[in-house]
Amino acid sequence: MTESCCCPPEAGNAVCDLPAQDFQRPTRAVNTCPECGRTGKPVQSQTVSAIVSVSLRVVRDVKYLFCGTHTCSVVYFSADGEQTFTVEQVREPVYQKEPDAQDVFICYCFRHTVGELRAASPEARSVLVDDINTGINAQQCACDLRNPQGSCCLGNVRGMIKKLEKPAFATT
Ligand SMILES: [Zn+2]
Repeated sequence: MTESCCCPPEAGNAVCDLPAQDFQRPTRAVNTCPECGRTGKPVQSQTVSAIVSVSLRVVRDVKYLFCGTHTCSVVYFSADGEQTFTVEQVREPVYQKEPDAQDVFICYCFRHTVGELRAASPEARSVLVDDINTGINAQQCACDLRNPQGSCCLGNVRGMIKKLEKPAFATT
């Protein structure tokens, strides 16, 4: 069974990491981060507007992408590479940029932190995942407005749990 995104639009399913059945991400060479050169993930415009800490006068009606590179300070950039928003220009710490910070949120909608997940027992971790799933099913999430990546956190949560519980087999 493959994991696919079954989240509602509020969970940002259009820009989710998990494969969706009927969503084809357009491939364009221009979608690379002007700072680190890696390809970004498309985000909806309301995500950029919700997350940046600067005047929304500078947010343009263009396509923006999210840079998830750990070592790169750019959070969002315009598809043409002309404009960037860095970690200094967003409202709160971004998980992908500080994956080892205890107090950074890994689940922004239901406010679970990296430290919380790390300190939890395997049983408590699965309760936490269930809580997130329950919230998503109850349509209480707003990943497009709360999570800097603009989509559901479950991929990150599952990935981190996998790493925590199978360190000997962890691959990057
Ligand atoms: Zn980058």
